[in-house]
Amino acid sequence: MTRCYNFCAGPAALPEAVLEIARDEMLDWHGRGLSLMEMSHRSAEVVGVAHRAEQTLRELLAIPDDYAVLFLQGGASTQFSAVPLNLLGVRGCADYINTGQWSKKAIAEGRRYGQVNVAATSEESNFSTIPPFEQWRLDPDAAYLHYTPNETIGGVEFAWTPQVEAPLVADMSSTILSRPVDVAEFGVIYAGAQKNIGPAGLTLVIARRDLLGAAHALCPSMLNWQVAADNDSMYNTPPTFALYLAGLVFDWLAQQGGLRAMEAINRRKAEKLYAAIDDSDFYANPVDPDCRSLMNVPFTLADDALDKQFLAESEEAGLLNLKGHRSVGGMRASIYNAVTEQAVDALIAFMADFEQRNG
Ligand SMILES: *Cc1c(COP(=O)(O)O)cnc(C)c1O
Repeated sequence: MTRCYNFCAGPAALPEAVLEIARDEMLDWHGRGLSLMEMSHRSAEVVGVAHRAEQTLRELLAIPDDYAVLFLQGGASTQFSAVPLNLLGVRGCADYINTGQWSKKAIAEGRRYGQVNVAATSEESNFSTIPPFEQWRLDPDAAYLHYTPNETIGGVEFAWTPQVEAPLVADMSSTILSRPVDVAEFGVIYAGAQKNIGPAGLTLVIARRDLLGAAHALCPSMLNWQVAADNDSMYNTPPTFALYLAGLVFDWLAQQGGLRAMEAINRRKAEKLYAAIDDSDFYANPVDPDCRSLMNVPFTLADDALDKQFLAESEEAGLLNLKGHRSVGGMRASIYNAVTEQAVDALIAFMADFEQRNG
């Protein structure tokens, strides 16, 4: 069996050690004579798996007790609706920061439910930077401020956390668990699982408990965070297998030394890849160096007529999914937690060789 190096933006690489455990436990989970997938979500086994996953996640992120941890479905995109439905309340308006394609989707969905104030945007720079905080025009009546700490498509990441009075709501889909964050600085953190948590089908919401219970009367029960919290994320059948795999990923992260250790590895990976791009006249990254993503590294070739050849040859070399997003073009290497330093080294070596042959 040959495992390739996978740079997919999502669904993304999973730790090999996690896949091996899942394989070994596939037919007979912990001697029960059946797969975890075949068990009732009300069974002690599945409830135990869910509970343990939550506990390990709480330890990894040092989540304070006054925050609920919810395991939901529908992806981050469903939370684009759930956020306004749960939080807009009587104020009816919210601030949004527009730093890229995912911000824009959240803004468009927010507008369906209330008044959205785009307090800052970097669209005029083609999302290659983050608008400085001094230029943000915040609405004093905003029920919350929504932003996207890491724009997966543009490769733009906040190196700082906005300090605002309204509850801070963050779509952390592609940065969560890549480094420590101070959860207490946020009102709500949400993330689709398929970048840095586990397989697709699971959505994580971490919400300060005092923000629950104020959902719009028409908020569907399935999107109501209070309902999810009251039912331990089992209001309906949860995606049990995805939850089990996420729990294994959390265990793996703890074994790696937790999020401080992951941050050191992730910084090393990103620094060497950006250095390889910056040191060459053949490759380029358009993002302001202060806002470069640790997880998603877009890059272009000096001549885009070579894109097809680059993709074909990289795939041949076992380096998969390097094609950039269709809205940006060029290449993108997503280097999430499960993408090893060895994979990044192999990519850099391939890039140097390709440049030598075609530059
Ligand atoms: C991938 C991604 C999404 C969309 O996630 P889904 O789970 O597919 O809905 C939203 N926001 C960000 C930042 C993402 O990276």
